[in-house]
Amino acid sequence: MSVNLQTPIDYLKGVGPNRADLLRKELGIHTYQDLINLFPNRYIDRTQYYKINQLQRHNADVQVIGKITSFKEVAQKRGKRLVATFQDDTGTMELVWFRGQKWIRENLKLNKFYVAFGKTNWFSGKFNMPHPDLEPLEDHKKNLRTGMQPIYPSTEKLSNKGINNRVVCKIMQQLFLESKGRFTETLSENLLEELKLISKKEALLNVHFPKNQELLSKAQYRLKFEELFYIQLQLILKNLIHKSKIKGYPFEKVDHYFNTFFKDHLPFQLTDAQKRVLKEIRHDLGSNAQMNRLLQGDVGSGKTIVALMSILIALDNGFQACLMAPTEILSVQHYNGLSDMCKKLNISIKTLTGSTKTLERKKIHESLENGDLQILIGTHALLEDKVKFKNLGLAIIDEQHRFGVAQRSKLWRKNESPPHILVMTATPIPRTLAMSVYGDLDISVIDELPPGRKSIKTVHRYDKNRLNVFKFIRDEISKGRQIYIVYPLIQESEKMDYKDLMDGYESISRDFPMPNFQISIVHGKMKPADKDYEMQRFIKGETQIMVATTVIEVGVNVPNASVMIIESAERFGLSQLHQLRGRVGRGAEQSYCILMTGHKLSNDSKTRLETMVRTNDGFEIAEADLRLRGPGDIMGTQQSGVLNLKIADIIKDNDILQNARYYAKQVLQQDPSLGKPENAVFLNTYRQLGKYKNIWNYIS
Ligand code: ADP
Ligand code: MG
Repeated sequence: MSVNLQTPIDYLKGVGPNRADLLRKELGIHTYQDLINLFPNRYIDRTQYYKINQLQRHNADVQVIGKITSFKEVAQKRGKRLVATFQDDTGTMELVWFRGQKWIRENLKLNKFYVAFGKTNWFSGKFNMPHPDLEPLEDHKKNLRTGMQPIYPSTEKLSNKGINNRVVCKIMQQLFLESKGRFTETLSENLLEELKLISKKEALLNVHFPKNQELLSKAQYRLKFEELFYIQLQLILKNLIHKSKIKGYPFEKVDHYFNTFFKDHLPFQLTDAQKRVLKEIRHDLGSNAQMNRLLQGDVGSGKTIVALMSILIALDNGFQACLMAPTEILSVQHYNGLSDMCKKLNISIKTLTGSTKTLERKKIHESLENGDLQILIGTHALLEDKVKFKNLGLAIIDEQHRFGVAQRSKLWRKNESPPHILVMTATPIPRTLAMSVYGDLDISVIDELPPGRKSIKTVHRYDKNRLNVFKFIRDEISKGRQIYIVYPLIQESEKMDYKDLMDGYESISRDFPMPNFQISIVHGKMKPADKDYEMQRFIKGETQIMVATTVIEVGVNVPNASVMIIESAERFGLSQLHQLRGRVGRGAEQSYCILMTGHKLSNDSKTRLETMVRTNDGFEIAEADLRLRGPGDIMGTQQSGVLNLKIADIIKDNDILQNARYYAKQVLQQDPSLGKPENAVFLNTYRQLGKYKNIWNYIS
């Protein structure tokens, strides 16, 4: 009989209530199962023992056999440290504790042999080892000794209370003893065979007590694969269920609006990427299932036209459509851009934002409900309950990262049946991450910029070079170009930031005086109407310089603007810098992005700036961002699935992820309900993962 892995950790020999409490609080370990899934962060080769006279100044972790001959307390600035003299037959060194001294004094014995393990320092003529991991030699000999010593995640509290790495190893060993290493297999025989994976049992044994590097690698691969496989299985299942459950409106035809636009009004040739994406969308819209698609495309890749043409398909089938953007400026800009074309096609289109007047608002509500109004563009004002459509067939959300999942689902409920949904984002989400967190959306990518774009030249300049930068601005303006100057606006330091912005505006006004120069300013504290007025002046070319906070970050399109200056660039995140840079390079002229900073820069800031200077590729930038910040920050906390990975690493293990996704897809293609006997193992494991509850009732 194998042990029940749901047994509370308190019952494991050597744990007890106090330690159990700590393990729960510090590492979230409640059950045997949780403990087994506590995977080592790293491993250390412990086949080697050092003599004290063999120690080198820059040793990594080493182990030394010796005995403690004396203790002394040494007073220091704050409190005291405990120092033990540790001796072997070649010399002496010191063991040092800054914390947990009481426990040490009570538990360590003089003149008894220990194995001391840790990092060594060279300090005033002696080697010392701070907070060593100490194990009595006799225990050390008895233990399930392995060549590779696992180092487990820990916390300061745990080590202060004496639950050090050695103790964790010991508890782990006890668990393996009690369970006799009999762990239930969690992958099918077919998969194990096809991928030449080692069994679960072997993998667990070798990840905790690896015999050698080769077995360790195999164990890690198998466990990472399993972890990613079940995440993919869940995501793909969700997607399948969605498609079979949620009926959409089939848009059967492509008709007058689309065809006329395509033949007579298309302002340019579509890129291959745009064509491909349109085909994907068209396919979704024509099927019986509701579309739920994420459209990714770098800034300037031309998502708007794809949105418009999708809208035209909805209209051709007698449905209404809406386009929701995160800011008023952007909504208005979309409206202005699209309404031109719509007028030619005799389509009714309106915009609704927070500042729409009551009377106009009422008219919009009415015409929306009686079906006269075909396209509505706006901010999240569209989500209000009062906004009711006669037959909303397609909802497009621009710049997804500003809206949450909850808002997406609010749009859903605007109809009896949910409309087709297209989410467009310019934040290039690394494919790896997109696959894991947006697995429930289908993904289209525009991976090609319209022809003739010159890549933007990016440079980093220090504040002291400001005069040169101003001269450059003057030169560009004399060539007829327009300039953005952007200031950071971070919520926490809002007051200071506004001061910086206004100071900046004043100094720019001095250097670029009227009447030769005209300057616009736009920031979040202005009334929407004033913002719009300033924005329009810039769009029309009446002003040459736009001083702004990040409100212009998203989507604004002024092709004649060719210089983007970002002040205090070190304070922006990578994806934000990239978004801002995307405001230029939209016309035929060579464009520039100048990152201004002070002299003092953190390492992360330097990396961000260097990345921006090196590349224009949004996906490369997103990957770098992911590496710098980790997935949590990028996606926000609600998508925490990827954050809780126990052993796999979403970036480093990309290959394994692809593989896992491929096989998860294959399994589900052949057996969508996992009803076949050979797939029972997947079903069982999946259920145990506790994820089936909310999903499984849909199937069967
Ligand atoms: P984004 O993907 O950032 O929303 P837009 O849709 O605003 O990009 O397009 C950026 C600019 O490129 C616009 O001025 C648009 O008219 C232009 N554009 C889009 N597609 C093409 C194309 N296939 N050929 C030429 N210009 C294009
Ligand atoms: Mg856009």
